[in-house]
Amino acid sequence: MYDIMILGGGPAGYLAAERAGHSGLKTLLIEKRFIGGVCLNEGCVPSKALLHSAKLFDIARHSEAYGVSTSGAAIDQRAVIARKNKVVRNLVAGIKSQLKASHVTVVEGLGEIVGRDAGIITVTVGQTTYQGKRLLIATGSEAIVPPIPGAREGLASGFVLTNREILDLDTIPESLVVVGGGVIGLEMASYFNSVGSKVTVIEMLGKIAGPTDREISTILQKNYEKKGITFVLESKVNAIRDGAVEFENAAGKHSVPAVKVLVSIGRRPVIAGFDLEKLGVYVDKGRIVVDEHGQTNVPGVYATGDVNGVWMLAHAAYRESEVVINNLMGRHDVMRYDAVPWVIYTNPEVGCVGETEESCKAKGMACQVASISMNYSGRYMAENAGGDGICKVVIDPVRQRLIGCHIIGSYASEIIVVAAMLIETQMKIADIKEFVFPHPTVSEIIREALFQL
Ligand SMILES: Cc1cc2nc3c(=O)[nH]c(=O)nc-3n(C[C@H](O)[C@H](O)[C@H](O)COP(=O)(O)OP(=O)(O)OC[C@H]3O[C@@H](n4cnc5c(N)ncnc54)[C@H](O)[C@@H]3O)c2cc1C
Repeated sequence: MYDIMILGGGPAGYLAAERAGHSGLKTLLIEKRFIGGVCLNEGCVPSKALLHSAKLFDIARHSEAYGVSTSGAAIDQRAVIARKNKVVRNLVAGIKSQLKASHVTVVEGLGEIVGRDAGIITVTVGQTTYQGKRLLIATGSEAIVPPIPGAREGLASGFVLTNREILDLDTIPESLVVVGGGVIGLEMASYFNSVGSKVTVIEMLGKIAGPTDREISTILQKNYEKKGITFVLESKVNAIRDGAVEFENAAGKHSVPAVKVLVSIGRRPVIAGFDLEKLGVYVDKGRIVVDEHGQTNVPGVYATGDVNGVWMLAHAAYRESEVVINNLMGRHDVMRYDAVPWVIYTNPEVGCVGETEESCKAKGMACQVASISMNYSGRYMAENAGGDGICKVVIDPVRQRLIGCHIIGSYASEIIVVAAMLIETQMKIADIKEFVFPHPTVSEIIREALFQL
């Protein structure tokens, strides 16, 4: 009898397993594919490994502006993929050894739910039955393949790709059409633009980068237009066939040639294929509904990570799982989402947290906004010839607290956590201004922006 059984070995599942095992709970982790889930094997980590290679390639080709001459810079896509695979292998091996150290029993195979009786939950993997007092569902998410004519056939022939296939592509396509200008689409557009593909991004909405601050997504788009990416906004894809993507917009019907097509229109929680209905767990709009403790409507059954559809980011998954295990161990804990940062690892990077000017307006919340050029930062100037980044801070004018921060520019991914901590701890603006930031660093920009208010 296990204290906790966990379905899915992605960030939500393996983190919960590690914490539970470490806390002395008898823990079972079931994974049907690869330990590490989407994030380690076909998401966060492999995409960042590729983007780092692209960044080095960009730096090598544009180093003259910094007084450095290079010649003969070239990209070897096979070597890039081989290195990415090595990074993934090493990280997955690390997770496996941590699970072992935490005395977690790991079972490979599809976990299927049998039911819950007298508070005991039963699952099977193949012919073997497992029982536990609690079940954490951490089955994650999968790429949505839209019902566009030609999409499924293209996927079967290798013409159409999802995140899974594109991160293993060992040739550089002459042209790539990206359907969907969200974070995943933009990161892949960025990589293939750097390594030489002709990239077109087709987006249904009037802006790229989803809920990202509008001014920041406009700057990002302009940067990539300068680098040669074509953006087609407010456009609907009608078909994918014969080496082309057909779409329409207010100006009429069009077709753009493509050697490969990436579909990145979003992800959906995995709630099918393992008899979830046998537990009577409440599902709404395709996601498992949970409270702030990760608890579903069924006692002893929890759901964390992408499967609950709240944030669909690995770091949100980690924290949600931590909350579940802390509460199981009698340490009161709740999940808060006000200060969950999100990052786009393009070049320039984007780092965001909290409210935007637009979200405040939509919620009828009062806010005060200051936006400054990243060139206020000495280090940014020193390292970015012609950089046009900005840092935007959003404050609650009554409580005098930071409620949002949005940065486009170098190190945005690393420094956004500073703003997240200031939001989470509800520090007063006057107190933040008294912090001494190291100089010259790009992080100083957050403090500087607050002085513009
Ligand atoms: C290209 C890409 C880039 C991304 N980049 C980032 C990023 O930079 N930062 C970030 O925070 N997030 C990023 N994400 C999102 C991130 O990958 C997810 O938020 C994260 O993986 C969610 O973790 P999870 O554990 O909920 O689910 P998953 O990682 O999807 O893991 C779920 C696991 O459950 C297994 N499983 C499913 N059903 C069963 C079953 N019945 N039995 C056994 N096992 C089962 C699956 O095989 C899978 O391994 C990215 C995603 C993609 C696709």
